[in-house]
Amino acid sequence: MPDTARSSTRDASQGKSEIDRLFALQKAAFAREPFPTLETRRSRLDALIRAVEKNEARIVRAIDEDFGCRPRVETLLAETIITVAAAKAAKRALAQWMRPKAVATPLHMLPAKSRLEPQPLGVVGIIAPWNYPVQLALSPLAAALAAGNRVMLKPSELTPNTASLLKEILAAEFAEDVVGVVLGGVETGEAFAEVPFDHLLFTGSTAIGRKVALAAARNLTPVTLELGGKSPAIIDDSADLAKAALSIARGKLFNAGQTCVAPDYVLAPRAKLDATIEALAAGARKLYPEIDTTKDYASIVSDRHFARLKAMVAEARDAGCRIVEIGSSNALHPQRKLPLTLVVEPPARLAVMQEEIFGPVLPVLAVDGPEAAVAHVNRGERPLALYWFGSDAARCDRTLRETVSGGVTVNDTLFHVAQENLPFGGVGKSGQGAYHGEAGFRTFSHMKPVFYQKGPGGALLQPPYTEKTDRTLGLARKLM
Ligand code: NAD
Repeated sequence: MPDTARSSTRDASQGKSEIDRLFALQKAAFAREPFPTLETRRSRLDALIRAVEKNEARIVRAIDEDFGCRPRVETLLAETIITVAAAKAAKRALAQWMRPKAVATPLHMLPAKSRLEPQPLGVVGIIAPWNYPVQLALSPLAAALAAGNRVMLKPSELTPNTASLLKEILAAEFAEDVVGVVLGGVETGEAFAEVPFDHLLFTGSTAIGRKVALAAARNLTPVTLELGGKSPAIIDDSADLAKAALSIARGKLFNAGQTCVAPDYVLAPRAKLDATIEALAAGARKLYPEIDTTKDYASIVSDRHFARLKAMVAEARDAGCRIVEIGSSNALHPQRKLPLTLVVEPPARLAVMQEEIFGPVLPVLAVDGPEAAVAHVNRGERPLALYWFGSDAARCDRTLRETVSGGVTVNDTLFHVAQENLPFGGVGKSGQGAYHGEAGFRTFSHMKPVFYQKGPGGALLQPPYTEKTDRTLGLARKLM
């Protein structure tokens, strides 16, 4: 279905009044149960796990239909397995996460005790993108439920089959005052972002993230923004080139590059530029020997996204850049398949170096040593991910210290995101806040500081102020 038809059938299918109704319902339900027990939270996580496991085959089919082609294994890996794993890990760790955390009390305040007591926030909003339409909706949902919240979810209109399926399978497991799904496009998104949620997590582009943050600010709703950016892959001179290139090709071509943490461009040692291009081509051919026919390679999600990528490549070609296409794309247009397309040394002014690519187009640039690589990264906005390949630990440390990125994988791509115990999030224009594992629980909790007075406390310092007060102050000073 063409893009416009797709969105018009769904857009604003649930308007502001439905959003307001759901929010009021969830707010009232939260007021009745402001601190769900461990058992309740675990049973909600079980319900989420059931929703995914029971419907795995339907999820695979829905995403495949939405994309045109989405390899089954990629959907299992990046949507269902990863989400269920996150929910199961939360279930296992929940008792420990919910436990108040002791905080050291300074000597002069003893014998008082201090603790951080995690408390649910209330009603949480989640706005999800299309590229991993299940994982990026349900993984934050798991964290928000673990933290004891009620959740309203708005999936992307660009994956309408998956969005409808999410609504159906979640409604089968949850009362709508616990989890409610709102379907719709931009207008619905705008109305959704205006709701005075107790927290709003948005995953999507930096441009829309800014709009969401502005709308949320009007209610002082705290936001977690999971955005995008241009994530570099730096190949150091000390790297095993074939291994590094294969890993970059794997990370880039998974979901046909439609991954927020996909390597966006490669920085290679100048003397090894040609060898890097050959190694990337060899890596891509190894992964997709029959790229023209294979079901192992995802389609670009829509005609509009496909045309945008083709236009980026055309602009680079017109500007005189060397373009290396690994496989022929011409026969594949009906399926919107685009093979790995290397753009060699594009100038900074081109779209391919200005915008997040979000597809299998990969600029490869030569740099003169590690300092130049760091300087290149630091000239741009802070990326969501950074990849470093090599065996020289000192250079690796230096690059990591001197660049700021959301996360890093050394000697591979994407993996820091799959490690559920590492917080996942961006920095600067690539996002703010984080989730996954305990970081997700904390994002959706108020870590309430509580001071338990045990001794005389304020009574020692209250008026009328006398010499005794001065002596107490003097003693306190010594203990500080
Ligand atoms: P998008 O920003 O176009 O849309 C994301 C969601 O926002 C959709 O549900 C959409 O309907 C909704 N939306 C659109 N306009 C809105 C508005 N004005 N107010 C409120 N909501 C609105 O992003 P996309 O194209 O779906 O996803 C691609 C982008 O997402 C890329 O930039 C990618 O890097 C980023 N991304 C980031 C992560 C991450 O975890 N950091 C993960 C996946 C994708």
